[in-house]
Amino acid sequence: MPRHSVAMTTHIADALRTHLIRDDGDEDLCFATYSISSGATRISYLLTSILLPEPGEREVHGNASFTGDYVLRAANIAASRNEGIALLHSHPDGRGWQGLSRWDRDAESSYADLVLGLTGNPLIGLTLAGIDTSWSARTWLGAKEPTWTESVRTVGRSLRISWNNSARPSAAATAYQDRTVSAWGAAAQDDIARLRVLVVGVGSVGLDVATRLAATGLTHVGAMDMDYVEDVNLDRMIGATRADAAARTPKAAVATRLMNSASTALKADFAAYVSSVTTEEGIAIARDYDVVFSCVDRAWPRAMLNQIAYSDLIPVIDGGIGIDVFDDGTMRGATWRVQTATPGLPCLQCNRQLDMGEVQKERLGLADDPEYIKRAGGGPRQRQNAAILAGSVSAGQLAQFVSLVVGPGGEGAPLPQRYLLGPHVQEALRYDTGTYCRFEARVGEGDHRLGLL
Ligand SMILES: [Zn+2]
Repeated sequence: MPRHSVAMTTHIADALRTHLIRDDGDEDLCFATYSISSGATRISYLLTSILLPEPGEREVHGNASFTGDYVLRAANIAASRNEGIALLHSHPDGRGWQGLSRWDRDAESSYADLVLGLTGNPLIGLTLAGIDTSWSARTWLGAKEPTWTESVRTVGRSLRISWNNSARPSAAATAYQDRTVSAWGAAAQDDIARLRVLVVGVGSVGLDVATRLAATGLTHVGAMDMDYVEDVNLDRMIGATRADAAARTPKAAVATRLMNSASTALKADFAAYVSSVTTEEGIAIARDYDVVFSCVDRAWPRAMLNQIAYSDLIPVIDGGIGIDVFDDGTMRGATWRVQTATPGLPCLQCNRQLDMGEVQKERLGLADDPEYIKRAGGGPRQRQNAAILAGSVSAGQLAQFVSLVVGPGGEGAPLPQRYLLGPHVQEALRYDTGTYCRFEARVGEGDHRLGLL
């Protein structure tokens, strides 16, 4: 059985709250359309537009009610876009994940079959709790009983998740985490510990990121890398051994080994994937996660992740380092960048971290072709990196993660950051979304996303 989740942008969540939480304290309701994002083990329903009631389509009287015409109008709009519909209503006095009242159950179940028939997609029910604005959601797969989703994600510069405690039980903090919990409080720790985080690329930077997530108490972290440890990796993969290089241990397996030894959780589930996000299998796994760290230096996998940040509402925290050397081999300087790709912030292409020409070269297999590189007038690919500086990149990415999921000072993920080693200057980069950005124009389209494979 797949897991189910609902996601929406902060923008849509704000508009829904404005409509559903009324000044007079009554319940209200509306419909929305959604698209589907299929992962390997999770189906996410991504809200794409709000269909507010037109005059006469709903009545507010303590419990709100709606007409059959409103359902038909919403279902026909959704069907014309190959999308589904969600029925959303508020419980003004509710707090936390809401169950179904008898009225809720009757209203949703009586339209479930009709909606499935008209749109080909199940009716999704969402409830907004008025006191703490948390969401709860279920999907009506035609049966008379709903299937509850495990979470509802609100995604923008901040990531806020409403958890279904029966499907994703709270991970009790342990005595090992006292200092961590004292940094942001038990509620934030409880939210962070349940996040599913994928680290793509577990070399120098990604291995450090993964280990620190495990030490923080996260219970579901995946490590994805299709490479095996070699001698040349040992100066950067802290914790990988000469025996790993001799045995050619998968880098992802080194990551889960280190995560297991660093973990402070009572029970954790760390997954190793010897795979790449440039395959159908690998990118489907990425769509199972709530946040992805991009710790790869290739353009194509970064483009794949840049896409799901917007199309599938999964924030991607990206980073990279460039070390400049003079012709005589001595060091000239270094620059590193960290940035979060998420609705509300420019994508990696717009903030000049992704060259779609390079993506195309890698897709065609030309990036490592010596003949092609010679003809194009390029030199060998520069691979300078040093463990002593990689920690600066992982630190920057982890700090962005804290801003995204904890939001210190009420701030979410910041603008892209650049650090110049020579003068030791860190600066925020103010890039705007490009007019023709293909990524940010397609927020929440899920499985309708453009092909990049
Ligand atoms: Zn963009």
